[in-house]
Amino acid sequence: LPRRQRGLPERRNIRDVRKVIAVSSAKGGVGKSTIAVNLALAFARQGHRSGVLDTDIFGPSIPTLLNLSGEPRLSANNQLLPLSNYGVKSMSMGYLVGEQAPVVWRGLMVMKALQQLLHEVEWGGLDVLVLDLPPGTGDTQLTITQQVKLDGAVVVSTPQDIALKDAVKGISMFRKVSVPILGMVQNMSVFNCPNCGHSTHIFGSEGVARTCESHGVDLLGDIPLDARICDDADRGKPTVVAEPESVRGEAFMGIAEKI
Ligand code: ADP
Repeated sequence: LPRRQRGLPERRNIRDVRKVIAVSSAKGGVGKSTIAVNLALAFARQGHRSGVLDTDIFGPSIPTLLNLSGEPRLSANNQLLPLSNYGVKSMSMGYLVGEQAPVVWRGLMVMKALQQLLHEVEWGGLDVLVLDLPPGTGDTQLTITQQVKLDGAVVVSTPQDIALKDAVKGISMFRKVSVPILGMVQNMSVFNCPNCGHSTHIFGSEGVARTCESHGVDLLGDIPLDARICDDADRGKPTVVAEPESVRGEAFMGIAEKI
């Protein structure tokens, strides 16, 4: 039966966007937004018209990462106009509500805001749009996967067992809703000490690779745990812009090339 007759919402394309890629993680704080924004910047560096949509309503990080703020203007047909920096267009709840995170919003308001972010932005022609999903596999994530035609999903995880267990839930969710999984990214696997040069695998080294193998998913790449990635993010100049030729910058670029 068609989706509509089964009572499921119809999946719509995001207007003027050729390819939509969701970056997800089962837990917060594993580097999902950092990876989403660096991927969008890497696509732009490869010459694609690129954008990033922050769908994390309760903890939007894209404005900080791209050093952007202020209210979006409206187009002639009342659509939100994205804000741009470093050649990447972006839209985020953070622009709409400023610093006041809508932590007390009810489900209905969240869904309404989400609709606006998904369907009322005038992207003006993009080759690729990266969706920064909220962490987890709950209602919001399901709504997004059911309402928007996603070309693929990237699952970010750190290599420790507890994170991987939840990452597997993410893989199952995308499979259930028939979104192709492009692969996993392992973040914070190796720490290279800037003082002595010694490498330490703080959370283990093979976790994500093992999960990929046992679940038939590609491993897209590995991002080291490095204070400079955090510094770059904090000052609103992500690694792909701040230091594209470093090992770290190349790690992000390498992942973008595989997508
Ligand atoms: P999430 O979106 O999963 O909640 P973030 O991308 O916001 O995670 O990252 C959480 C914190 O960890 C941020 O302060 C970010 O700068 C930092 N971070 C992410 N990846 C790395 C890394 N590879 N090395 C160092 N710090 C990182």
